[in-house]
Amino acid sequence: MKLATFAREGRRSIGIVTDDALVDLADAMPGCPPDMLAFLERGPEAIALARQAAHRDATRIPIADVTIEAPIRRPPKILAVGLNYADHIRETGAARPSVPVIFNKQSTAVVGPGRPILIPPESLCVDYEGELAMVIGVRCRRVPRERAREVVAGVTICNDVSVRDWQKRTPTMTMGKSWDSHCPLGPYLVTLDEIPDPQALSLVTRVNGEMRQHASTAEMVFDCWELIAHISTAFTLEPGDVISTGTPAGVGMAMSPPRWLQPGDVVSIELERIGELANPVVAEAPISGEGP
Ligand code: ZN
Repeated sequence: MKLATFAREGRRSIGIVTDDALVDLADAMPGCPPDMLAFLERGPEAIALARQAAHRDATRIPIADVTIEAPIRRPPKILAVGLNYADHIRETGAARPSVPVIFNKQSTAVVGPGRPILIPPESLCVDYEGELAMVIGVRCRRVPRERAREVVAGVTICNDVSVRDWQKRTPTMTMGKSWDSHCPLGPYLVTLDEIPDPQALSLVTRVNGEMRQHASTAEMVFDCWELIAHISTAFTLEPGDVISTGTPAGVGMAMSPPRWLQPGDVVSIELERIGELANPVVAEAPISGEGP
């Protein structure tokens, strides 16, 4: 099942996508919250009810008539993994990590499909990273690897946009990984019944149609289940948390000379069985600070 957060005529809701149309769960499922986080917090039962609702004779809205937003607009946590594909480790010249390299992206960085990735005036070194992202469906802690599948609501696509100079000039990556608009997510949250094996999906990133990354998720150093087991050792994971699983080779930083994202570019990431996440690149206005 493909779940979407969408806006239409000034109203936001969640829906189930079938081909080029969508069933609005607010109409098809009595009492369904219009927000994906609230929906996921109701647990696997809500997903089962939504599935039944989609099979009923519900009204279908053409996808072309709605704006698809990030499936989770403000995840409670976004955790990501550095150096998780062997070929990407090679291109960066780093050593293969013995434990997963986990970092945060701030939840304010999330944008939906089609929304601009901003190039801030403070850096010219903005880069893409196409990634498979898991969305947690069950509150959990110390999940054993063999049960990790049970806590995943589904899979989506993350562009782990990175400001390389800010990422690299301190020992933590935080300041380079979370600029506003630097976490495009979507287009859909696809439940695991449609993804028998998340480690067997083709992942392709293109910039202006030119293929830059092409890999199989089979090439991850630490697979999805290992990452959940590792991360949940320390943290409680909650419904709506996002774990982005790392990027393969082909980032702009590793090219000679580096090829940074430029205003006017379009980055698209295609993940088998999930769809395509495409975002234009736009220069951020020099004076755009808000507040205090
Ligand atoms: Zn990444």
